Amino acid sequence: MTGRHPNNFNGQCLPKSVALYLLSDLYMGYYYVNKNIQKNGDHEVHKPGCSFMPKSENRMFLGEFPGCRGAVVEAKKYYLQSNGCYYCCNTCHTQ
Ligand SMILES: [Zn+2]
Repeated sequence: MTGRHPNNFNGQCLPKSVALYLLSDLYMGYYYVNKNIQKNGDHEVHKPGCSFMPKSENRMFLGEFPGCRGAVVEAKKYYLQSNGCYYCCNTCHTQ
């Protein structure tokens, strides 16, 4: 076992872009931004169910979006340095 493999979707090795498109961009979803800053200065955007979702007092509801891109754009209205969570919003995670 070598830990988590976000690219490995149900045991099938789909191309990363396809797997993440299926996971995150095909349906409307609720998005939240972490009010607290990360070590690198980012405010991370999360979807419900993410194991890194901040506690309710530490997150702000952004709204419902068809994908994480819109959610990150919304988050940047509040926090200039917003970024998609590596785990639940990987297509919008930069660096
Ligand atoms: Zn997340």
